[in-house]
Amino acid sequence: MEQNLLIHNSLTRTKELFKPLTEGRVGMYVCGPTVYGDGHLGHARPAITFDIVFRYLQHLGYKVRYVRNITDVGHLEHDADEGEDKIAKKARLEQLEPMEVAQYYTNRYHNAMDRLNVLRPSIEPHASGHIIEQIELVEKIIDKGYAYVSNGSVYFDVRKYQEDTKKYGCLSGRVIDEMLSTTRELDGQSEKRETADFALWKKAAPEHIMRWNSPWSVGFPGWHTECTAMGCKYLGETFDIHGGGMDLMFPHHESEIAQATAVTGHGPCKYWMHNNMITINGQKMGKSLGNFITLDEFFTGSHKLLTQAYTPMTIRFFILQAHYRSTVDFSNEALQAAEKGYSRLMQVYKTLKSLQPSKSSSVDVKEYRQKCYDAMNDDFNTPIVISHFFDMAKVINTVNDKKATLTQADIDELKSVFDTFLFDILGLKDEASSDNTQIVDGLMQMILDVRAQAKANKDWTTSDKIRDTLAAIGISVKDGKDGATWELK
Ligand code: ZN
Repeated sequence: MEQNLLIHNSLTRTKELFKPLTEGRVGMYVCGPTVYGDGHLGHARPAITFDIVFRYLQHLGYKVRYVRNITDVGHLEHDADEGEDKIAKKARLEQLEPMEVAQYYTNRYHNAMDRLNVLRPSIEPHASGHIIEQIELVEKIIDKGYAYVSNGSVYFDVRKYQEDTKKYGCLSGRVIDEMLSTTRELDGQSEKRETADFALWKKAAPEHIMRWNSPWSVGFPGWHTECTAMGCKYLGETFDIHGGGMDLMFPHHESEIAQATAVTGHGPCKYWMHNNMITINGQKMGKSLGNFITLDEFFTGSHKLLTQAYTPMTIRFFILQAHYRSTVDFSNEALQAAEKGYSRLMQVYKTLKSLQPSKSSSVDVKEYRQKCYDAMNDDFNTPIVISHFFDMAKVINTVNDKKATLTQADIDELKSVFDTFLFDILGLKDEASSDNTQIVDGLMQMILDVRAQAKANKDWTTSDKIRDTLAAIGISVKDGKDGATWELK
């Protein structure tokens, strides 16, 4: 924890030294998925970005409470106050209960994230399970004078909030005064006083299936209320980090700040972090553009834009090769390069484990650990960390080619840097040597040890029986001067 970690705060637009509100503890809230469709790259990037933050803060010794919500109600089409609820619409089209839709896609989301080796959050609250908390929040905002009831719905009064605080737009940089003075094109039909006002509670139309009782109408909460209500419930009035994709800055996070400030006088958190967006072949990803590729389609290669399947670790490695605040452009060429780079590092790790130590080292490897820390401490700069691993790969291969030497202590140090940074912090894993492969390796080693013991005891019956039985199931054993080895025939 003595490491000086710099975090880029979207609110101040500068890198700040990370200092948690409570010594040794970190509260982090990240906006999770709206579960009405399969996970895609737009889900993978924030999940992986904040997985890195979660892993690294834990590595530094903090106790981290990581809350990532599931939006299963209130997220309307067009990300605004209008249109049909995304989950309700899917339920209507597929003739399912809305909660069936939410559960089905939550399960699929978990499955895809598990494959990407994204750790599960500490708490994963559902919006539909926190309607009471959201109603209480809306009541408080009304009591403070920053919301009004209109025809059974409740709206946040952006004009009054702006006049009192001058804060609307503080995160996104939107100039709200201009919006308030120029946009009065609302027709007489609208329930809102200003177009900039956003819904805290919506009265449900008769055909709307997801509905709850409230003091104002039978209806449902606005999209922005869930994160304010659940963040406050599980992390307190002020917590350390609030994260999400850059596309959520406005209106979602801006509105979260407004809701919290209306009630408490200050925003919900100390640091706002946002990951940048993903493009595909230079284009924005969108269902209408035909370039909307789900994670399952990446894993199986079953989309017309893909020339092959890509493993979850290739996707993870590719995302980590860019800094989280940079855009990432997906193309087959870029993914193939990531696949190569990733397997090169996995190969080098195997080489590292089999290096023969020397009495002295001809290369200095002591600086790599600190270099990796320096990169992580500079706002989680994963591409720089990865570049250090390619440097280490060169050293390891040189030693393996007998053109340089390393002591056992230096080999162990490199192994430890790989284990700590590549596997624990970046969360990569060797897909080729899955758990089963490791078990088979372990079992075979044990069998060959028993056979070597039998041979040492001149128990030829046992040693021959082991060799013949293995041959019968397709495993050939070769005796060499350093002991026996095995391979699949
Ligand atoms: Zn949110």
